[in-house]
Amino acid sequence: MVATTSETLAGTARLLKARANRHALYGVIIAALCIAAASLLAAFMNSGAVSVEALIEAQRSNYALWILDAMPFVFAVWGQYAGSLMAYEAGAAVVDQTNELRAQAEAAERRMTYEATHDPLTDLPNRVLLHDRLAQAVNAARRGGECLAVLVMDLDHFKEINDTLGHCNGDLLLKQVASRLKAALRAPDTVARLGGDEFAVLLPKIHHADGAELSARKLLRALEPPCVVGGLHLEVHASIGIAVCPEHGADPDTLMQRAEVAMYAAKRNHSGFARYAAGHDQYSPRRLVLMGELRQAIEHGHLCLHYQPKVEMARGELTEVEALVRWRHPQHGLMPPDEFIPLAERTGLIQALTHWVLDEALRQSAEWGRAGRDIGVCVNLSPRVLLDPQIPDTFAGLLAAHRIAPSRLVLEITEGAIMADRDRALEILTRLHGFGVRLSIDDFGTGYSSLAYLKRLPVEELKIDQSFVMAMLEDANDAVIVRATIELAHNLGLRVVAEGVRSRALWERLRELGCDAAQGEYVGDPLEAAALIEALPRGPWHLRTGRRRA
Ligand code: C2E
Ligand code: MG
Ligand code: MG
Repeated sequence: MVATTSETLAGTARLLKARANRHALYGVIIAALCIAAASLLAAFMNSGAVSVEALIEAQRSNYALWILDAMPFVFAVWGQYAGSLMAYEAGAAVVDQTNELRAQAEAAERRMTYEATHDPLTDLPNRVLLHDRLAQAVNAARRGGECLAVLVMDLDHFKEINDTLGHCNGDLLLKQVASRLKAALRAPDTVARLGGDEFAVLLPKIHHADGAELSARKLLRALEPPCVVGGLHLEVHASIGIAVCPEHGADPDTLMQRAEVAMYAAKRNHSGFARYAAGHDQYSPRRLVLMGELRQAIEHGHLCLHYQPKVEMARGELTEVEALVRWRHPQHGLMPPDEFIPLAERTGLIQALTHWVLDEALRQSAEWGRAGRDIGVCVNLSPRVLLDPQIPDTFAGLLAAHRIAPSRLVLEITEGAIMADRDRALEILTRLHGFGVRLSIDDFGTGYSSLAYLKRLPVEELKIDQSFVMAMLEDANDAVIVRATIELAHNLGLRVVAEGVRSRALWERLRELGCDAAQGEYVGDPLEAAALIEALPRGPWHLRTGRRRA
């Protein structure tokens, strides 16, 4: 583009010079015509006739004609001079403008290169630049016989923060994390953002793999002080995977992949960081295989439901059970939901899974109803399912098919699911509530929503997360949270259920605080439908099960 523009400018200069020359030529012609006319007039005035001799005589004797004779030369020289001057000025302008354009083009190219190699949010190098630097570092390490390390880091529960506090606040958090990571490392190290909540660090020169662990510890320590976002103090936890060159790989792709595999191992073990080990690999292909198997399991009914009692504290009566899905896996045995629900959520299988769970739970509730037992069922809804606009109609259809009164169904939804898209959640919850289904906020306290906001939704119940309940007898803060939540929820007209009630002491304390219902090991573990029915006839629930531990 620069070349074309400077060519255009050079062409313009040539045009200007040609135009100046043309005008000079006109001047010369006009001057010549003037000389001819003046000579003829002078010849005629001198001799009364026009002849060659008279013209020569006029030219020789008339000094005014001499001045006139000089004019074509003056015009020619002046024209040439003006033309050259204009061409010179135009040329200078061309040079100036070309230089300016070149500078602009270079700046634009630098900006484009920067944008292509940096993350716009955090200003950190992106995956492309990291890969480039990693390739250089691998080559340098190979030549010098040295070690380098790649660390891949992922924030724990960032999605929940993003969903609950909004993407703007999520972005602010990522920026804070980025600057802390940068500050925690030395100048030659590269911190990059790979996308989402995933970061990577390149340590181009380490003496020993332990050095990489030291850096990982430093990074985790840098994230320890809470981040202040939207007026809230947020605890940020991360998991880091470490791969060392040449021990774990000698090319950038292998190193990155292995660091990521190690990161998943760290996440699974809640260990903060993990160095790559060959055994970690089985989990990645395993996840892929599991995904295919889960689809089959839903289709062929290899899932099953366990039902955990939810007991009214005042009367000790079992009124509802929570349906908790399990997978009867031919190789891995009975798999808990934590091992496959996140997978189902990520792959879109969650819709089919929820449909199966609801269908089975309603079938079971109808069967209990026919046997004269009035037991409501609570079903968990994932965020993705809650935001599906078809859900109210699908649920209404299933309730009608099983002839179950909608009030016998409770849907448990986490705060994060609602906050992910408040308007859509409100619309869908209102439709569900409209045909009589009851709604409950699950794991309350783990998100960042306020009770005042939740009360604007058509919810009736709040389940205090087990993490607060379990420790409330030892931890004064948790005790305050549980008490305040019960009081506030009651003031707002909500029923309160405590999760994780695993001892008699907890049961007693919660009853004193006026908690409405309890769920947990002390009340009863999740049981298969048949085992639950077996336990039913043994008196009021908390006396009937005999499962209670003091
Ligand atoms: P949740 O909805 O909060 O369910 C309660 C979980 O806490 C259950 O674990 C239950 O067994 C466990 N629990 C209850 N009381 C105690 C106790 O006193 N001590 C201990 N240690 N644990 C207790 P589970 O069955 O493993 O389910 C875990 C989570 O998986 C559930 O948490 C729920 O979020 C999800 N989940 C389970 N079934 C489904 C489902 O059908 N659909 C969806 N979307 N999620 C499900
Ligand atoms: Mg639940
Ligand atoms: Mg819960």
